[in-house]
Amino acid sequence: MNIALVAHDVYKNLLVDFVIAYKHIFQKHQLYATGTTGRRISEAAKLDVIRLRSGPFGGDQQIGAMIAMDDIDLLIFFRDPISALGHEPDITALLRLCDVQQIPLATNLGTAEMLIRAMENGFLSWREEIRKYDSPRLNGTENK
Ligand code: PGA
Repeated sequence: MNIALVAHDVYKNLLVDFVIAYKHIFQKHQLYATGTTGRRISEAAKLDVIRLRSGPFGGDQQIGAMIAMDDIDLLIFFRDPISALGHEPDITALLRLCDVQQIPLATNLGTAEMLIRAMENGFLSWREEIRKYDSPRLNGTENK
């Protein structure tokens, strides 16, 4: 599975600790992350992470583009629910694209833990299946 990881500054330590705790699962998958999040994870967890731009500089949009192409199977995004951020439009767009493409999304630790455990137990194998039923309406190729 292709897993995308993003954490705003207040939750970077939390995400790093989470990835370390579940390293035995994460190491079996391809990880993508925004710039600083990816650096922190690769340094602390010693995992290979494909790093994109930093969130405020287009990293969220890069992940969004991958989701639009159905190249991401799961997004864990520990976003800051308190502070207003300059790249809020990018964040909103990223979350929206998860719903467009039916991508499992965790924005907090509790949901992330359930999704990672579920993935380990095969509950996300439908991601492989759903590609067979790719909807022209959702992939934008529908004739109008
Ligand atoms: P970062 O980006 O991982 O580069 O900090 C995340 C964000 O702040 O949106």
